[in-house]
Amino acid sequence: MKKIGVIIPCYNEEESLPLYYNEMKKVMEQMTNLDFELLFINDGSKDKTLAILKSLAKEDKRIRYISFSRNFGKEAAILAGLENISGDYITLMDADLQDPPSKLIEMYDLLIKEDLDIVGLKSNNHKNYGFIRKILTACYYKIIGTLSSTPMAPNERDYRLMTRQVIDAILSLTEYNRYSKGLFNFVGFDTKWITYDAPDRIAGNTKWNFRKLFTYGIDGIVGFSTRPLVLSSFVGILFCFIAFLMILFIIFKTIVWGDPVGGWPSLACIIIFVSGVQLFFLGVIGEYLSKIYLETKKRPIYIIKETNKK
Ligand code: UDP
Ligand code: MG
Repeated sequence: MKKIGVIIPCYNEEESLPLYYNEMKKVMEQMTNLDFELLFINDGSKDKTLAILKSLAKEDKRIRYISFSRNFGKEAAILAGLENISGDYITLMDADLQDPPSKLIEMYDLLIKEDLDIVGLKSNNHKNYGFIRKILTACYYKIIGTLSSTPMAPNERDYRLMTRQVIDAILSLTEYNRYSKGLFNFVGFDTKWITYDAPDRIAGNTKWNFRKLFTYGIDGIVGFSTRPLVLSSFVGILFCFIAFLMILFIIFKTIVWGDPVGGWPSLACIIIFVSGVQLFFLGVIGEYLSKIYLETKKRPIYIIKETNKK
């Protein structure tokens, strides 16, 4: 019997978990020709998430959990899941039912019927996002789309059904700074997308705020493009060119009108502007440098405190 392994990262999901399990149970009852393992990753929750997971695991032998020593973030939870899950097909779902378990049936059928490696979900709405977040998201994907050669789209969910071979490929990317949206697409393989209307979170609150999203966004750009580093050379050449034109203009102006000193305010502006640009690119280099620094430390990405995994 083939087996589907489901990874569910959970951070303070006490309200959603029982609802999620109910939905998932219905799906498992419908997919009778398959075995299941549900691997919940408790990412350092401060509420009753772990207690709920323990009681669910007593009830249902297909449930496994891994509990971190603190909150390491969703990326760490995904990695722990991928490293510890068993099964011939693996999928990843949020605990808040925004990735409806019922879609798994359709995804599995498509994967088998067309002999694909990955079937993913694309939401055709962001109705739970505010107006500003929608605009920023659109801008961000435009920027990363231009900078990176790995395709990434705003509406692609992490909810994908993948074969074991794809998981092994993803795990062969051993970087410390993990950006799953990019890693999943980087490995390639035959992929098809199913579009759906993403519902709102069933209970609890989103775990993302502007600062977390911004940092995550920068991680994505630094992780999947080196073009910002090259950009400074282009800006440098452009500035040299502008400076050359200005020199010609000043020589011409001095010869024709004679203009001994004037113009220090404009000079001050130019100096501040150019130093700003230089500091900006120093910052860009710093971003990459800090990532190299973290990579070389080889710290563990997550620390497990307890688990019922064999
Ligand atoms: N999550 C996690 N660790 C974190 C933040 C989130 O494991 O530090 C989990 C969370 O419990 C949920 C999933 O990642 O199952 C997606 O989080 P959320 O629904 O808050 O994100 P959104 O859907 O708002 O983008
Ligand atoms: Mg969510």
